[in-house]
Amino acid sequence: MVVSYQDRLQQLKRRIPEVEPSEVKRRPQGAVVIDVREKDEYEQGYIPGAVHIPRGFLEIKIDTVAPAAETPIYLYCAGGTRSLLAAGNLAELGYTNVRSVIGGFRKWKEEGNPFERPRVLTADEEKRYSRHLTIPEVGPQGQFKLLDAKVLCVGAGGLGSPAAYYLAAAGVGTLGIVDDDVVDESNLQRQILHNTRRLGTPKIDSARETLSAFNPGVKIETYKARLTSENVEEICGPYDIILDGSDNFPTRYLVNDFCVKHEKPNVHGSVFRFEGQVTVFWPGRGPCYRCIFPEPPPAELAPSCAEAGVLGVLPGVIGLLEAIETVKLILDKGDTLVGRLLCYDALKASFVELSLRRDPDCPYCADGVEFPGYVDYARFCASPREHAAAAR
Ligand SMILES: [Zn+2]
Repeated sequence: MVVSYQDRLQQLKRRIPEVEPSEVKRRPQGAVVIDVREKDEYEQGYIPGAVHIPRGFLEIKIDTVAPAAETPIYLYCAGGTRSLLAAGNLAELGYTNVRSVIGGFRKWKEEGNPFERPRVLTADEEKRYSRHLTIPEVGPQGQFKLLDAKVLCVGAGGLGSPAAYYLAAAGVGTLGIVDDDVVDESNLQRQILHNTRRLGTPKIDSARETLSAFNPGVKIETYKARLTSENVEEICGPYDIILDGSDNFPTRYLVNDFCVKHEKPNVHGSVFRFEGQVTVFWPGRGPCYRCIFPEPPPAELAPSCAEAGVLGVLPGVIGLLEAIETVKLILDKGDTLVGRLLCYDALKASFVELSLRRDPDCPYCADGVEFPGYVDYARFCASPREHAAAAR
């Protein structure tokens, strides 16, 4: 025998307590308020503190917000009918403390109660980032973090190119790029932000053009400069994470020292021929660059940038590992490379991990040390070989 809709409502009204919106405001500690309306209704406004679980997902998701059967639960919809039906479903599952709000969100608003509007992705963002939205570790909340993030790529070269490309693709909302160079033919073997038509143009302009065309939703800030003690605060200051794609010691030390001073993560990569290395220096949580190399080696021992040579594909691997670490830091998910140096040998096709320790006597990041100030070292190249040597 079929129970009519009206009969069902009457049955539920006898079994399920219905409460006025004012009682939602006076709810006990630990109570859960659930908005069971559809997404488009919820986006128009919701009761502050409410969790949104559309009615169709209620039985599937209820245990994530109300693990105990006796949890006080307040359900509301637009007018009080769907929430009553939903409350009946929860009662059948064994929840013993379920209420339905009379008049629902309409009455809540009519009585002049405050409401909030959820932050929502635009229709374009929903499409563009749809493959993120279906990953539980990212989802809309993670995408908001990415959109709000500010990352500075130091260098638009071999490492900065793939890193910036993918960070723009992932929807990192503000990408800074600092580089003082122009596009040269010898860059095009690996620096994929640039192209043959842009030979002789500043790399920052070329990078902006490529990235803006790829994802117009990303704000690109460019700085045609080389980092110095004079400008490092001004350029790096607005950013949450610094992705170091530089190839020289003076820049690396400036980036490190800035990140020590401000306790910001420094995502660090380097390449040499067939070998590359990546780590995250996050002062306060792990070692800094100076814990491993307190001072740069003498200039005559370092190869020149042009001499060192690098397999064209290799910076792609290392730059993308830097980009992934950056995304993980933004999302606050997974285990980062803090205190770990990941070494890739392309010829052997092997990854080796070395642990990096904090130096308790580090001149910059040791406990109680006052910031010694920025240093402008003489310009010469940095190859990754010393890292591995020092870490072993
Ligand atoms: Zn240190």
